[in-house]
Amino acid sequence: MSMRAILTYHSVDDSGSPISVGRAEFRAHCAFLASGRVRVVSLEALPDVPSHEDAVAITFDDGFENFWSDAAPELEARGLPATVFAVPGHVGAHNDWGGRQVTGIPHLPLMSWDHLARLRERGFAIGAHTRTHPALPAIPATQLEGELGGCVEDIEGQTGVRPSTFAYPYGAWDATSAKVVRQHFALACTTELRALRAVEDRALMPRLDMYYLRAPGLLDRWGSAAFRSLLWLRSRGRQLRGLLAGPAGVARQVA
Ligand SMILES: [Zn+2]
Repeated sequence: MSMRAILTYHSVDDSGSPISVGRAEFRAHCAFLASGRVRVVSLEALPDVPSHEDAVAITFDDGFENFWSDAAPELEARGLPATVFAVPGHVGAHNDWGGRQVTGIPHLPLMSWDHLARLRERGFAIGAHTRTHPALPAIPATQLEGELGGCVEDIEGQTGVRPSTFAYPYGAWDATSAKVVRQHFALACTTELRALRAVEDRALMPRLDMYYLRAPGLLDRWGSAAFRSLLWLRSRGRQLRGLLAGPAGVARQVA
């Protein structure tokens, strides 16, 4: 059965952390994605691919330096497009959002503006991921415009291109923040773990966190009944852990 989905990566490194996919695992993913088994398109083009086709869009949250050193060369060698969601307030610094490090999440360097601008020139898309990576429902409504519109201005000012896509930090949104997101972006991604349905709300697109699909050979079963069952189980498991752990637990699972 055919399947369209947005893939989420954060860091390509061998730490085994919940935000990491190993370098060999990532190379295997790239080999599958370049095999012709599925179409790989830009994030903005994916909703327009007919739902009877197998297609993916590749996204990377946070803009880790290892995108520049490890992921981009692998993608580029195979002609695979990807979108990197950058956090202007942390560009050239680290993923210690709000000045805090989280147990179990590696403290890693993020790409510089120079790297992001050069990636754009090489054909990668730069999307927005807020200015400082807050959970949007947790901040006052008066700060939403700065985090969203401000993020657009920062990225356009530094790379020359206005970002049209967005990823919600921690996948967290509510009606108020989604409304402002709609004003600024053509498409926005949550962390709701599922493939695309025939019709989707472009401001609340689901994605597949590749941490859960990193096992060797798993991607090769794309679209199969077994693959779909696994997605469903992972999705249920995540919801359950979120309920048990509360918002802090959810924030620990994703970035
Ligand atoms: Zn993030």
